[in-house]
Amino acid sequence: MKFADLHLHTYFSDGTFSPEELAAHGRQLGFAALALTDHDTVEGCARMAAACNAAGIEFTTGTELTAEHNDIELHLLGYFVDTQNEKLLADIARFQTTRQNRIREMVARLNALNVPLEAETVFALANCKSPGRPHVARALVKAGLCKSLDEAFERYLKKNRPAWVPKAKMSALEGVGLIHQAGGLAVMAHPGLNRTDDVIPVLVDAGLDGIECFHTKHSTAAAKRYLGIADKFHLLVTGGSDCHGFSKGKPLIGTVKLPYEHVEKLKEAVSRKTVEPLNR
Ligand code: AMP
Ligand code: ZN
Ligand code: FE
Ligand code: FE
Repeated sequence: MKFADLHLHTYFSDGTFSPEELAAHGRQLGFAALALTDHDTVEGCARMAAACNAAGIEFTTGTELTAEHNDIELHLLGYFVDTQNEKLLADIARFQTTRQNRIREMVARLNALNVPLEAETVFALANCKSPGRPHVARALVKAGLCKSLDEAFERYLKKNRPAWVPKAKMSALEGVGLIHQAGGLAVMAHPGLNRTDDVIPVLVDAGLDGIECFHTKHSTAAAKRYLGIADKFHLLVTGGSDCHGFSKGKPLIGTVKLPYEHVEKLKEAVSRKTVEPLNR
């Protein structure tokens, strides 16, 4: 049996592995195919492609975009996107600026709570254009201001906690369009985490190509439910570990093994696509 992991992060966003380390883990675990889905960036794709190529692993470009529908946050995975697509790169640059400003706001809120962290400390630790809350959490732990990443999220950074700052997001419909005009397939990430089942039919009407049925945080029952939904709406099926690095002493990559037949279906689907220009 051949397997794939189509949801992975590197240090180009909030993961801790380099593309080369991730490809090495993938090789050790025997994966036939991997996709890189860093938040709001495609910067790591070229190195990941080279590392996968050297390791004999098939590679698919990707990114994970944050969007919303009716105030519900959802994540969109864009697979096979052209990493040189001008509109994608321009929009991603705006999302990165939003992320950087949000870090400053979260730090200001922490300071108002007498937590002495500096934004520059977070940026230095993140050392990427797409910083996020995990970097704030790591900076809090590193500075001895929290004992663990969990504590940082629970006390300060989780939604509606005192240092949480809502993120300005594009609409889910725009997100699907943005991925399509870059030649990609749009897939709803981990619907079981965001409780976005009701949004699936709306996005299907907007051209959603697939849903992530298999995910580390989906129970077997949830995966089964989403396979049923994929079948009902004729959606492609994807899956991945959402590895951000080590988790409980082990790299998270390897916890989800997507049967390779789904990669073949994705490739067939993308080869049938014609790129639609986006007018906005
Ligand atoms: P952001 O994109 O800045 O809103 O950060 C979202 C990322 O934070 C997710 O991709 C997860 O990696 C991580 N995250 C979200 N909630 C938690 C949590 N409760 N504990 C640990 N990590 C979390
Ligand atoms: Zn993340
Ligand atoms: Fe996500
Ligand atoms: Fe992710």
